[in-house]
Amino acid sequence: MRTKAYSALSATSPVAPFSLDRRAPLPSDVQIEILYCGVCHSDIHQARNEWQNTIYPCVPGHEIVGRVTATGSDVKKFKTGDLVAVGCMVDSCRTCPSCKKGLEQLCDQFPILTYNGPDKHSGGMTYGGYSDSIVVDEAFVLRVPTNLNPAAVAPLLCAGITTYSPLRHWKVGAGQKVGIVGLGGLGHMGLKFAHAFGAHTVLFTTSPGKVDDARRLGADEVVISKNADEMNKHAGTFDFILDAVSADHDINAYLNLLKTDSTLVLVGAPEKPLPVAAFPLIIKRRQLAGSLIGGIAETQEMLDFCGQHNITSDIEMISIQQINEAYDRVLRSDVKYRFVIDMASLKAA
Ligand code: NAP
Ligand code: ZN
Ligand code: ZN
Repeated sequence: MRTKAYSALSATSPVAPFSLDRRAPLPSDVQIEILYCGVCHSDIHQARNEWQNTIYPCVPGHEIVGRVTATGSDVKKFKTGDLVAVGCMVDSCRTCPSCKKGLEQLCDQFPILTYNGPDKHSGGMTYGGYSDSIVVDEAFVLRVPTNLNPAAVAPLLCAGITTYSPLRHWKVGAGQKVGIVGLGGLGHMGLKFAHAFGAHTVLFTTSPGKVDDARRLGADEVVISKNADEMNKHAGTFDFILDAVSADHDINAYLNLLKTDSTLVLVGAPEKPLPVAAFPLIIKRRQLAGSLIGGIAETQEMLDFCGQHNITSDIEMISIQQINEAYDRVLRSDVKYRFVIDMASLKAA
């Protein structure tokens, strides 16, 4: 099926109109009309080849909410008209120990990402959500709680699960002091979840203008990270810190804030390596870890949790024609707190 889209043709070209073919649904496939797609900082990293693995043309977008328009003959979970979502993965090997445990994001063969991944059906690359429609195996399609604003659900598919999963894995909850670093798309969801899980939540930001928002979004305290005195007041007091920063910054300053045996988890994926000093780690047996999105079952659990607790992303809706301007604003840390593309703008173009 011919599908309208927006793609990057090179690391330096703007994201621009494009068209592509989607396969006709195979027996286990769901065909989805895309209604909304969130704009993740990973879209920018990849459109601009900052991770040095982009194959062009690149159609970004992995925070997808849409409506089922057709289903293959074997599809059991979905029917035409259902409101559904697709996140960062569209498939995985399904046989390795990680896949069998529902940790498809940790697949031994690496999961097939929603865009810029090897498409086993077309033989080319996968194309993401900056498009009219997508066809995905039902095993990688999520159900959207009907009580939530579907546009504000879209960012849950990456920003949501990427922060929910490590907070759950490291058992963040009441009685703990938890730090979230960076109030962007991921950070604002991490803040909402840490607050919802009952932790005393401290938000670290480089942007003094975000302090009031951080409090509204659930922060018990807000620290301007550029202020060394403010940072030092919290030395050795945190049970857990989640770092969602997209660019170069000093993670040693945050390691110093952890208690003995506590963990700093990186979810941010800056272009350049971050220097790690040995002493902040060895002094209090602190740990530095990473986390990648979350599995399909946990993504559904997160969506259901959001439905029950009325949690969505704070969004600014844009048309697809505004995408390059939106990228510039994300790079200036000027987004409150996730751009979501209204795909009706692509149909109208
Ligand atoms: P975003 O909306 O741009 O947020 C990043 C935030 O980091 C900014 O709002 C800003 O917060 C802070 N920041 C930016 N530049 C900084 C600098 N030079 N020094 C210190 N702080 C800075 O990005 P996002 O979409 O949330 O993504 C964040 C990162 O996570 C990206 O690298 C993305 O690729 C990665 N990511 C990883 C996964 C995963 O599975 N691990 C999944 C999705 C995304 P303040 O203004 O509050 O300082
Ligand atoms: Zn993402
Ligand atoms: Zn696997």
